[in-house]
Amino acid sequence: RESDTLQERGDNIRVFVRVRPLNAREESAHLRDSICVDTDTGTVHLLGEPPRSFAFDGVLGVSASQEDVFQLFGTSVAEACLSGYNGSIYAYGQTGSGKTFTMQGGVNSVQSMQQDPSRGLMCRILEFIFDEISRRHLKGGSVQHSCKCSYLEIYKEQITDLLEPSSYLQIREDINRGIYVERLSEHSVWTASDAFHVLWKGLHQRHVASTQMNELSSRSHSVFTLKLEASSTTAGGVTSTKVARLNLIDLAGSERQSFDPHQPSTHESLRVKEAGAINRSLSALTNVIMSLSQRRAGQRQPFVRYRDSKLTFLLRDSLGGNSKTHIAACVSPSAMCFGETLSTLKFAARAK
Ligand code: ADP
Ligand code: MG
Repeated sequence: RESDTLQERGDNIRVFVRVRPLNAREESAHLRDSICVDTDTGTVHLLGEPPRSFAFDGVLGVSASQEDVFQLFGTSVAEACLSGYNGSIYAYGQTGSGKTFTMQGGVNSVQSMQQDPSRGLMCRILEFIFDEISRRHLKGGSVQHSCKCSYLEIYKEQITDLLEPSSYLQIREDINRGIYVERLSEHSVWTASDAFHVLWKGLHQRHVASTQMNELSSRSHSVFTLKLEASSTTAGGVTSTKVARLNLIDLAGSERQSFDPHQPSTHESLRVKEAGAINRSLSALTNVIMSLSQRRAGQRQPFVRYRDSKLTFLLRDSLGGNSKTHIAACVSPSAMCFGETLSTLKFAARAK
């Protein structure tokens, strides 16, 4: 069975690193880059004292295109989903490292989602899935597909619907439905274009909300979910349905949120206290991923603490088991970001 092979190969969690180009501010600092990559071996060398090397499932350097990113780690998650497995892609990294660019890309209209070379993973994966579904139909396949999208945001451990904004939503667990978000809107889509319209609405809402509240975009997690149901009927008239969920997650910035740049705190003890209070969902997610990778490595069976945060509880059934989890760790090559880059690479290397 395919699930066994996935498990045996131990590649349910795959980690990729993407290095973005220097921005104008970094360029003008004229510092030596802190990173050099070997894309053939998937190795990242961090130049410091001492220099360190980290190995990953894949590395994309500054010249990698959005299509390269999709080919390297978008297609396999999309294919797994089409085969009935849950899949997730998480973009992880400090604010400004390229998470949103990687997931969403430079899209500014529904039309640009269809054709702009800078469109990101979300659009490319959705297009791939709908193309594949219609290809299978044309080939005379008897499987009926139905797709629904939802899109939510988690900010300060509170969930809001990005497609039909309302009050805060609650997570529920039910024997029949499993884990779900109560009153979260679900939108049926039949084509990639339908999905782009839904996605656009959510991106727009996210943009509006983050303009109103500055810290929101760097401190919130957004989760776009495509629920794919595939039903087939046997000659005997028995219908079976497989449900797969694909989650595309743009995480909050991983930097230590020790102070608010807009309200610098001068009081030393307050600063120390704030440094401990990093985003709960993000730290819970890193704990869960660490526990899962220890499990895979055959070490003692750690208890996986899914209930520690909204994000990990919500995505429990898409983490571990036969689900495909891909992490895109985003970093800047600039020595200005050395500390955060080191901590992102350490997390990413341990998640492997
Ligand atoms: P994050 O979501 O991690 O905070 P962004 O994706 O918003 O970071 O990226 C910060 C800036 O860098 C944006 O202006 C974005 O367009 C640009 N950027 C990020 N990655 C790339 C890339 N690979 N190529 C070109 N520009 C990029
Ligand atoms: Mg972002």
